[in-house]
Amino acid sequence: MSSSSGIVYLVGAGPGDLGLVTFRAKELIAQADVLVYDYLVHPELIKWCQPGCEVVYVGKKAGFHAVPQEEIEALLVKQAKAGKKVVRLKGGDPLVFGRGGEEARTLAKDGIPFEIVPGVTAALAAGAYAGIPLTHRNTSSSVVFLTGHEDPKKHELQTDWRSFGALKNTTLAIYMGMGHLKFILEELVAGGLNPQTPAAVVQWASLGRQRSVAGTAATLAGLVEQSGLAAPAIIFVGEVVRDHEAIDWFEHLPLFGRRVAITRTRDQNSELREKLETLGAEVLELPLIEIKKYVEKDSFVEILAELGGYDWIVFTSANGVRYFFEDFLKGFRDIRALGLLRFACVGKATAKEIESYHLKVECMPDAASGESLADALIATGSLDSAKIIVVTGNLNRDTLVKKLEAARAIVDRLQLYTTEKTDLSADPVADDFRQKGADAILFASSSAAQSFADQAKSLKLAKDAKRPLVGSIGPQTSETLKKTGMEIAFEPKKANLDALIDALIRNLAK
Ligand code: SAH
Repeated sequence: MSSSSGIVYLVGAGPGDLGLVTFRAKELIAQADVLVYDYLVHPELIKWCQPGCEVVYVGKKAGFHAVPQEEIEALLVKQAKAGKKVVRLKGGDPLVFGRGGEEARTLAKDGIPFEIVPGVTAALAAGAYAGIPLTHRNTSSSVVFLTGHEDPKKHELQTDWRSFGALKNTTLAIYMGMGHLKFILEELVAGGLNPQTPAAVVQWASLGRQRSVAGTAATLAGLVEQSGLAAPAIIFVGEVVRDHEAIDWFEHLPLFGRRVAITRTRDQNSELREKLETLGAEVLELPLIEIKKYVEKDSFVEILAELGGYDWIVFTSANGVRYFFEDFLKGFRDIRALGLLRFACVGKATAKEIESYHLKVECMPDAASGESLADALIATGSLDSAKIIVVTGNLNRDTLVKKLEAARAIVDRLQLYTTEKTDLSADPVADDFRQKGADAILFASSSAAQSFADQAKSLKLAKDAKRPLVGSIGPQTSETLKKTGMEIAFEPKKANLDALIDALIRNLAK
């Protein structure tokens, strides 16, 4: 057997924030047949895989050890020999305290083609996101990356801390050192480091749950103990830490330090998650609902056959638009088959999806609700005897349809998807929510609100968990929340995500 077409990519996944993953990494993940990843790799990255990609977790699990290194290497070799495109994803950079070198050596020895893709290593991210420049013209002309992880039982190098304490004009960036912080700092001082040298710890760099503590070589260990910071963290020692106070931008963002739970489908959540993370929040995704494509075939075929006879097509969700065009274009291959059909939709997100096909939305209400959409359509004065397609899910949009029919329109419903509740009882993020709670929980749809109420028991917060403020995107969602007995803290005047986020910031600042 030859090993001709198989290849292994040793890929850095960056420090955590998704925006810090390289284009090359994303491209390779999307092409992989097999993805092997460990602890500290953002779970969102796994979703970039193509369907059918085999995903293997080899990191630590609560109560279990990581898969031994030899086994990981054997797995990479085996899959590549089977002709697979294997992506070996590692936190940060694969060659910085990541054992990527060992894996590459094994691959080289076995004659397996491989490529190494660098990533943003934790020390660089911690510096950038805590406002600690790693070098400085006047105070630091060198940077040293060190590991503080020392296990006397393992045959690994022991760091001679005292010799590093003697270095002048240097920034030390110490990985894996939290377990020995006090010892490390004492040794550095014993080696000649001025105990007044500024020093800091940055935990979970680049993520919404980033925390940092700054002091001096003499005080840092005590401060860290008080604050409860632990791994994963980078310890910085050097004059450059002085800049932290002046240029730390990330920890001053409006939602920094805030935990915000969001509740739509995984796909719909991503836009909201990105917006919240950009504002510094730690986001907990609780996908309470799931949208599944479900096309009522007969009515779809009938409607397509007579498309020319309709005046309006009405969309109440971006998913509806996506599913409609997926199947429409399969049938017609030419957008002009839509003829003179006019487009109406409920709100901005849906409009954006329609416009992505270079089609104009002619009717959209100010307030994003089915009722306002019907009013806006009626206000066009075009409904008398007009034929309208209303694209729906399994939740049938009765109010909208009834209002249109009352205005003498002829309405055909076209079901293209179903909205289903998910079960979060075994979901790790939901578990984090139950244990620690959140500062706020945002609802952007009635169905998510209903699903939350239905799962109230399994989502019940622990005794000392933080009780979240409840934010609702608009009147319909609020109605469902109220019906299920939830107290709403805020609802923006306009039902859109940006308005919801503004209201969130204002209410958390209170
Ligand atoms: N290859 C990785 C390092 C792996 S060793 C890289 O290049 O970053 C694991 C250590 O990296 C952790 O113990 C911690 O010291 C550091 N680390 C990883 N991610 C981090 C993060 N987001 N914030 C702070 N430290 C991090």
